[in-house]
Amino acid sequence: MTIFDELESEVRSYCRTWPAVFDKAEGSRLYETDGRSYVDFFSGAGALNYGHNPPVLQEALIAYLRENRVIHSLDMHTAAKAAFLERFRDTILRPRSLDYVVQFPGPTGTNAVEAALKLARKVTGREQIVSFTNAFHGMTLGSLSVTGNSMKRSGAGVPLTNATTLPYCRFLEDEVDSIDILGALLEGGGSGLDQPAAVIVETLQGEGGVNPASVRWLRRLAETCAQHDILMIVDDVQMGCGRTGPFFSFEMAGITPDIVTMSKSLSGSGLPFAVTLCKRELDAWQPGEHNGTFRGNNPAFVTATAALEAFWQDDTLAVETAAKGRIVETFLDQLAVQHKEHGATTRGRGLIWGLAFDTPGFAEAICQEAFTRGLLVETSGPESEVVKLMPPLTASIADDLEPGLDILAEAAEAAAARLEAPEPEKVGSR
Ligand code: PMP
Repeated sequence: MTIFDELESEVRSYCRTWPAVFDKAEGSRLYETDGRSYVDFFSGAGALNYGHNPPVLQEALIAYLRENRVIHSLDMHTAAKAAFLERFRDTILRPRSLDYVVQFPGPTGTNAVEAALKLARKVTGREQIVSFTNAFHGMTLGSLSVTGNSMKRSGAGVPLTNATTLPYCRFLEDEVDSIDILGALLEGGGSGLDQPAAVIVETLQGEGGVNPASVRWLRRLAETCAQHDILMIVDDVQMGCGRTGPFFSFEMAGITPDIVTMSKSLSGSGLPFAVTLCKRELDAWQPGEHNGTFRGNNPAFVTATAALEAFWQDDTLAVETAAKGRIVETFLDQLAVQHKEHGATTRGRGLIWGLAFDTPGFAEAICQEAFTRGLLVETSGPESEVVKLMPPLTASIADDLEPGLDILAEAAEAAAARLEAPEPEKVGSR
């Protein structure tokens, strides 16, 4: 029995999918204690967009630690925080003409979402939040109330209230535009939908099955929110920091959300760090009204600042992400043709791609076969029906991306062969 089996809660999950003990990590590779190497198409569920231990971030962090600089500071002023805020203003906000103020909630995605929901309710004096089918916003009660997955919701143990779910883009038949439904519900005096404080949305649903919302749908959503005086929250926890190409995933739709949540790859190093951004006029908090012990994660400020300097001073990374995304897309399209008998289809944007199947268990079988061949890739979607590819944006095409895709193709082949193999005859059966 390992120490994990002995002491760790049954709630653990990734370690069951990937039963290995990892130790070292560099770029797009993770290494087991015995040195076995894995190509990483998982990227810490979106927390490692720049790969593992990017050298410039590591150097900045080591230098900071060696100089006895402040590690923990709640929300006191520190030099590291000032440097981050200045860099974020100059590199991200100003070039995009965004007049957001920055709130540091607790350091996880769900902390950023909770702050956003509370702020929207406080500013509007309303309770309802509109969310979408297959949305994922986190595991604390407020975030869970706007999350779609029934298994995760059932873990709440209490009713999840003050939220209304509506169909996401393409959840219904193609000809039904769910923004028309939202508009009709908001206008109809008998709809039963109380005037919401906010709508919370992902521009592409990562956990929910790699579902990209169309630009038209997002623009219409933003317009409907504006018309009805409803705040628009974009949850960019997973799709932000360049995953879909631009720094903010909503940039390609030309919309300006009222509130934005970010975490995961914001520190660039895997250190926990989150922000809730809101338009300046919405910053209605009283001092200390929303707080938390770990808001001032200075090592994360340091690596986040280094990441903005290394990757976001120009559009090189965004351009490379688009180019790598096209390689993945082309490869997956071919793979989907090879596995069309399992209803394979592809979808994605930037460097987040999904290979979806109709055959139950097929996506999971591919991920298992991939693991045994040295590739980490996970499933997503309510029935785990999608293989979700999320390589680091910095992955080398020749050394990481192409070898990883080749392993994926072999894994799909092996999974198909597994399904086709006749059931082994049961011993003793007649
Ligand atoms: N929002 C989105 C869109 C996410 O993908 C996630 C995490 N997968 C969260 C919120 C929650 O983040 P965390 O797990 O850090 O609480």
